[in-house]
Amino acid sequence: MTDRKNDLSHHTLLLGVMGDPIGHSKSPAMHNIALEASGIPGMYVPLHVKPEQLAEAVAGTKALGFSGFNVTIPHKVEMLKLMDELDESAVCCGAVNTVVIQDGKLKGYNTDGIGYVRSLKEELNSELSGKHITILGAGGAARGVVYALLREQPASVTVINRTVDKAEQLATEFSHDTLQVQSGSYDTLDKVLAQTDILINTTSIGMSPNSDETPLEQSRIPEGIIVSDLIYNPLETRFLREAKSRGCTVVGGLGMFVYQGAYAYEYWTGQPAPVSVMRSALLEAMNHQKE
Ligand code: NAP
Repeated sequence: MTDRKNDLSHHTLLLGVMGDPIGHSKSPAMHNIALEASGIPGMYVPLHVKPEQLAEAVAGTKALGFSGFNVTIPHKVEMLKLMDELDESAVCCGAVNTVVIQDGKLKGYNTDGIGYVRSLKEELNSELSGKHITILGAGGAARGVVYALLREQPASVTVINRTVDKAEQLATEFSHDTLQVQSGSYDTLDKVLAQTDILINTTSIGMSPNSDETPLEQSRIPEGIIVSDLIYNPLETRFLREAKSRGCTVVGGLGMFVYQGAYAYEYWTGQPAPVSVMRSALLEAMNHQKE
């Protein structure tokens, strides 16, 4: 392999990720390995941007010739206002996680939900059409997941949330002529679960350092269904561990992170993302952090 550090030229693709904080981000490791594996001269850098300097930073990427960047906490919603154009994914999710800069124009996308659905289908090796799907949580991640799931012709989608108003609002917003998204509280969950094929946790319950927590007691998890968790730290949450012991097929959140990046990579480069290389780089970066 060539030494990319000595190979920077005007052809170099400049990419990055804006956030505050940003030091913990695994995206640079994942994307730099991907560029290297594809033989594309480029650099993906962490960009520490404070909220009050977001507009200046975004203008700076244009001036510096960036081809695009990712957006992470806390800038995903604010970024909407700074785009010249928005993809439907960003409008529906109410947040931008990927920006493509072309001919001096900024276009905002949201690849979180479509990334999750692509990883779910890959890991299950199955389509989602005709499935009854129940989602725990109604935050930002749930919005992207519902948006992407509805493109797969599921039989039903039900959103359960602690703050029921938020579940209702999400369901109303995403319902359309052919599918009414349902909503409810945790009190109604057992009835819903009796007819669920796929149960997805989009809440932050069980995320490190609170990895001893779970969104649902083990005894309430239906036996033998598909259970998924968006959380990828830890790789296997307590929720997924307990679902496994109920005979469920489980899908964790690592694939979502890989595929939201893969979509962004494909928008920026026009080439297929080297997904397995990206997954290995992400796992290595996570292991490195634990050392
Ligand atoms: P968010 O907008 O803050 O939403 C959090 C959700 O969790 C809300 O529905 C909230 O319910 C619920 N919740 C939090 N604590 C709860 C508790 N103690 N009891 C019941 N419900 C609780 O967060 P987000 O951006 O959607 O992220 C959610 C999770 O997705 C995080 O763990 C994040 O790491 C994960 N995620 C993973 C990826 C990936 O690439 N794998 C990408 C994005 C997000 P209320 O509305 O009632 O507060």
